[in-house]
Amino acid sequence: MKLYRLLYLSIAFLFASCHVKTESSTFTTPSPATSTSTSINIKPSITEKWLPISDFSEERTETITHIVIHFISNAVANPQNPHDIEDAYNILKNTGVSTHFIIDREGEIFQLIPTDRVAWHAGKGKWNESKAYSNRMNHYSIGIELLGIGTKEEMSLYLHESDYNLIAEKDKGFTVVQYAALSELIKSLVAEYPTIPLDRNHIIGHDEYSASKTDPGSLFDWNRLDIWK
Ligand SMILES: [Zn+2]
Repeated sequence: MKLYRLLYLSIAFLFASCHVKTESSTFTTPSPATSTSTSINIKPSITEKWLPISDFSEERTETITHIVIHFISNAVANPQNPHDIEDAYNILKNTGVSTHFIIDREGEIFQLIPTDRVAWHAGKGKWNESKAYSNRMNHYSIGIELLGIGTKEEMSLYLHESDYNLIAEKDKGFTVVQYAALSELIKSLVAEYPTIPLDRNHIIGHDEYSASKTDPGSLFDWNRLDIWK
């Protein structure tokens, strides 16, 4: 009799543990769909620093397919303190060009133009022999400027060698936190605009679009972007 009772208790216990296990695994394991959408919805923090919208942008009529990466600095006027965000903002404002975002040396992201409007950052150029993109990349793209400086040769477009030599080594190239912020921003934009494929044909440098440009240049390391699958 004792044996039957023991057997009954064991079976009851086994049933109870299986049941609990099933319930707890259902509760604690998120479905893949839930976890993917959660990570996509995490947005980097963005500081608003709008340019006068009607003077520095125009209505979008095309689908966004590209992101164009640039560098900007105040090295021409102030080679010893070239990375002031106010100076970069004023350079755009005084020269009548614009960009959607600037990322400073500390990785802070500033937004100057809403992404649903065309900013004027890419200028003239060509992409993949496509007529649509010829001199019209602004209409299809989002522009991101990094506060950064290229090599002496790349900067010779803008400043004399003697001024370039006044620039500190730490102010050249790009910072670790800029790569991190840029990666987060690109991932967030691609999630918002799924018409931008996440590959090197669509996340491009200004120098790849326009033969007369040198930014972001050879000091920009595309492999340091944490976005490639
Ligand atoms: Zn550029």
